[in-house]
Amino acid sequence: MFKTVKDMDLAGKTVLVRVDFNCPLQDGKVSDDNRIQAALPTIEYLVEQNAKLVLMSHLGRPKGEVNPELSLAPVAKRLGEILGRDIQMAKDCIGDEVKAQVANLNGGDILVLENLRFHKAEKKDDEAFAQQLASLADAYINDAFGAAHRAHASTHAVAKILPAAAGLLMERELVELGKLLDEPKRPFVAILGGAKVTDKIGVLKNLSKLADHILIGGGMAFTFAKLQGHEIGKSLCEKDLDLCQEIWDEANSHKAKVHLPVDVAISPEFKAMDTRNEVDIDKMPADQMGLDIGSKTIEEFSKIVSTAGTVCWNGPMGAFEMKPFDEGTLKVAQAIAASNAVSVVGGGDSAAAIRQMGLDKEITHVSTGGGASLELLEGKALPGVEVLKQTATA
Ligand code: AMP
Repeated sequence: MFKTVKDMDLAGKTVLVRVDFNCPLQDGKVSDDNRIQAALPTIEYLVEQNAKLVLMSHLGRPKGEVNPELSLAPVAKRLGEILGRDIQMAKDCIGDEVKAQVANLNGGDILVLENLRFHKAEKKDDEAFAQQLASLADAYINDAFGAAHRAHASTHAVAKILPAAAGLLMERELVELGKLLDEPKRPFVAILGGAKVTDKIGVLKNLSKLADHILIGGGMAFTFAKLQGHEIGKSLCEKDLDLCQEIWDEANSHKAKVHLPVDVAISPEFKAMDTRNEVDIDKMPADQMGLDIGSKTIEEFSKIVSTAGTVCWNGPMGAFEMKPFDEGTLKVAQAIAASNAVSVVGGGDSAAAIRQMGLDKEITHVSTGGGASLELLEGKALPGVEVLKQTATA
């Protein structure tokens, strides 16, 4: 196991906290503050402990160069608005000026370091860079579940230098996602969607061993429909059909029953439409594309979800950004919210759909980590978590 922030005595100490503040920005402002909200329990706990907080994160993909458009300053500002207090912002994440700023912190103060990825060394898991980060503090807390699948200096190397533990968000994510893999209440229903089969190979393989039902929607369903001998017209289809056949065969060789859509909503083009046309999966016209699961499929999937003990959902059921192709995703979200099952939703799009509908309170756990939650469900070890386990037992 790993230690958590509550297992350490951090009163009055300077604590370097890796958070996931990779928030979307619009016109220089945070347009979605979910990731900031998710980090609040750890931040508030440390403030209560009178610790001096040094928060660090990446934002976007500056590729190792300073890019003012990807500054964390708007995030620090939003954090200040949420907490109703002043938050200090550093010009960089390492160096003498930052050290001086840290030295001036009082107990309960919060300083946000500038974007870690302005330095190439961050993504290289560079020891020297990690040493510079570590030199700012007495202890290290990793609360950035969304970045835990990466071995970067701020998620990995630094944990080997300072006394290290998991934050409260990290703990909650690992406990809730871990339950899916360890002792899921049955029947365990996994719902997979999204654009590409290849993104979900590992999850499909692993969950087919663990789940009782796998419901497949979204663009990825069409490749499998084609392998069943159906015309799929202009729908999304993977190039490597041999690989997809292998994945399909393997998924079907384990205990889970794999369900494909029996009908779909179609369109001549990838754009919003005024009317919704649906056909059975074996009647797709060659000049159309499937953009959502159809009504019969929604009914079948919802029925299976209603009997579930555990539901795990990753990926939209259709091109949900465009009406009327959002229906499958929204109705599946409603079915999950209405069920008594332990429910875990991962992945940016499915989590966004749940929040958009105001259903997040009805879900046991909405994960903040897309890639990280997928890798956990694939059965992979996350470098940012493994290093915490090692330091806990060292
Ligand atoms: P992913 O990032 O793999 O979870 O995929 C999410 C994207 O898949 C969304 O932008 C959806 O618009 C898209 N998507 C889902 N179903 C379909 C579909 N049937 N055809 C085309 N795009 C789809």
